Amino acid sequence: MHTNSLSTSENQILEKLLEEVKTNTDYFMGYPVSKDFNYTELMPFMEYPMNNLGDPFVPSTYAVGSREIEKEVVQFFAELFRAEPHDWWGYVTNGGSEGNLYGLYLAREIHPKGMVYYSEATHYSVQKNLHLLNMSNIVISTQDNGEIDYEDLENTIRMNRHMPVIIMANIGTTMTEARDDISKIKLILKKLAIKHYYIHADGALSGSYSALIEPRPAFDFADGADSIAISGHKFIGSPMPCGVVIAKKSNRDRIARSVAYIGSMDTTISGSRNGHSPLFLWYTIKKLGIAGLKDRARHCLETASYAEQKLKEIGIPAWRNTNAITVNFPEPGLKIRQKWQLAAEGGWSHIICMPNITKTQIDQLIQEIITSKATIPTL
Ligand SMILES: *Cc1c(COP(=O)(O)O)cnc(C)c1O
Repeated sequence: MHTNSLSTSENQILEKLLEEVKTNTDYFMGYPVSKDFNYTELMPFMEYPMNNLGDPFVPSTYAVGSREIEKEVVQFFAELFRAEPHDWWGYVTNGGSEGNLYGLYLAREIHPKGMVYYSEATHYSVQKNLHLLNMSNIVISTQDNGEIDYEDLENTIRMNRHMPVIIMANIGTTMTEARDDISKIKLILKKLAIKHYYIHADGALSGSYSALIEPRPAFDFADGADSIAISGHKFIGSPMPCGVVIAKKSNRDRIARSVAYIGSMDTTISGSRNGHSPLFLWYTIKKLGIAGLKDRARHCLETASYAEQKLKEIGIPAWRNTNAITVNFPEPGLKIRQKWQLAAEGGWSHIICMPNITKTQIDQLIQEIITSKATIPTL
């Protein structure tokens, strides 16, 4: 017989899952996700079907949402990324991948015959997005640190210089947190006299704090980006994946017009949109302010520097990019990688020193690496 409550065994499933989530969160060092948030004050909103349907800047008749707060979040990042005061637009996405898809979509609408260039260290989702959008593209090689090879980029663009150029620049690559320098890319375009181009910055990983560190990396609108995507659940922290995309309003208007032509004012990728996630981003932005966010970034960099130092002290050739919170080192044993959820690629692994990572956790990891080395059987 069906009752209106969960059975004992169903309740046990939830309890077990909660335990698992808690434990796994404690040993979480390999993926760039913050978990130090406390959004208890926002819990009452979980009782409502919040939905920011469509364009945040165009009122909707569906009124159970957080559009005003979403617009504040967009404005915060537009200003942080030095967009032209009256030429920005954006929305809170489901994550960095959607923001990157949006940037490429805008680029394609503006340059339908463009060629997309991106480095081999680019996030795996970008290739799929290019496939979805059916855009011609060329992969550029990377330098050892994961940054795009500017010489290869220049030579490759030169060979295709009759086509508009669309650049997908990495502001923090997934494996080594390398940043492609947008001012260097602009110089190449100038040198080759490329008139038609679009630059999208994939700042999913480190876009949000790149604006808060010195020296400021060349990545934003003032440096030449036409759109920037970030993830919200990474540096800022959110219980559900989310992100923000900022674009030039003038470019978004072109899409709005072309869609209005078929009778719709739809400017976002999905129709129904998460009305809760803007609340989490807004809450942290308001609570910390620029000064608090800067402290947060500084703390991450300090932990990363500590981890790099400690690994080197035990003879492990750890390294990291300038102002990066990702520490790279030769991949440790499977047991350690599983426990701390460390990704690995081509023999290298990394820890990402998100705000919640403590020196105590680093020490614990170091201790486990020492122990594992001592127990490796020697022949
Ligand atoms: C995380 C990440 C993405 C994807 O962002 P999601 O928020 O996971 O969709 C894209 N690019 C880079 C460099 C990333 O680190």
